[in-house]
Amino acid sequence: MKILVLNAGSSSQKSCLYDITDSAHFGSSPPQPLWESLVDWNRRQGIAEVKITTARGTVLERELSTQTRSAVMAQVLDTLWQEKTRVIDDLSEIDVVGHRVVHGGQQYCKSVIVTAEVKKAIADLASFAPLHNPINLEGIEAIEQALGDIPQVAVFDTAFHSQLPLAAAVYPGPYAWFEQGIRRYGFHGISHQYCARRAAQLMGRPFEDLRLIVCHLGNGCSLSAIRDGHSVDTTMGFTPLEGLMMGTRSGSIDPGISIYLLRQEGYTADRLERVLNQESGLKGISGLSADMRQIATGAAAGNTRAQLALDVFIHRLRSAMGAMLASLDRLDALVFTAGIGENSPSIRAAACEAFQCLGLQLDPIENERHPVDVDIAAPESAVRIFTIHTQEDWAIAQDCWHLINSQI
Ligand code: ADP
Repeated sequence: MKILVLNAGSSSQKSCLYDITDSAHFGSSPPQPLWESLVDWNRRQGIAEVKITTARGTVLERELSTQTRSAVMAQVLDTLWQEKTRVIDDLSEIDVVGHRVVHGGQQYCKSVIVTAEVKKAIADLASFAPLHNPINLEGIEAIEQALGDIPQVAVFDTAFHSQLPLAAAVYPGPYAWFEQGIRRYGFHGISHQYCARRAAQLMGRPFEDLRLIVCHLGNGCSLSAIRDGHSVDTTMGFTPLEGLMMGTRSGSIDPGISIYLLRQEGYTADRLERVLNQESGLKGISGLSADMRQIATGAAAGNTRAQLALDVFIHRLRSAMGAMLASLDRLDALVFTAGIGENSPSIRAAACEAFQCLGLQLDPIENERHPVDVDIAAPESAVRIFTIHTQEDWAIAQDCWHLINSQI
């Protein structure tokens, strides 16, 4: 089955094509996609930079003057069959298209085939995810235009957290908030679920039997506590702004600060949104960068604000890990994923150090080796520790395969 996966960000669009012949693919390490594309609208005004990579190693780079997302997508899809980057003979060979959709609200606790009703729900939820859901819908419509009546699947980033116990989901404001949908939804769910399942696979144990903490530490950062096969607590909430300190996002702050800024400093809602989402976190404190590599280099060179940013990041990470533990009773494995989680031995070491009292112990040599999808705990550690390369696109492809096969 040829599965096209679309993963749209506000200024980028990743797509890839997998060929899954049978479910044996799911038992081992993820396969290489046949074809991958990255469209970046961010770097130059009015230009879409396109990079295509195929499993044969062919790389094609192009610049398109920005038209609509669907016009750019149509040209990108044409590279699937054009000579230099050909991986299929015709677009009709694609069996299904899967989309990462950021917000599925309370309705969607698992992936679904896209219908007119699903499209309407994604559009209606745009008020909760204004930067993402409209783009996800555009992607679905771009595929309708390019590929006609092909089955499409929506895979929601909130779905894995949809069984959060009410005690974890409800904000302690007026109950009316909860009735109008102001509650904790959680995000990064595709990544949390994929990494937790992969850890279970590497441990050779049933996923449903395990109690896990997954630390997704990228530009956006979130943790999840997982038991009985689903997320029971997570750090992001109504929006992806809650929780850990991130690259440019503040994470949780005293809500009184917002009131103070609005009232005393004359902030508008737009300015507040910009400060909390784009001018805070590692970038805000260090004044240097949102990139953890530069923060670490700056701190090592004696930059005190970079050091402070690093210290706050680690303090908040540790305290959120402690908060996740409270929902688990015991911990079988701790998982690190995404850019920082997969690549920063020092952040992993600092996070784990605080939990030595639980018998959690890293193997320092394995931790430094930059391994992925391996156990980096010391043999005597009471808790296994994994670095897992998050593969959201592969997780979306698997959901498409299962959904389409269940319909046959
Ligand atoms: P996104 O959330 O945008 O998908 P990524 O998962 O790619 O982001 O993570 C980006 C973050 O990962 C950046 O802060 C970057 O500095 C960090 N990162 C990447 N490589 C390393 C590394 N070797 N050491 C420390 N941090 C790293």
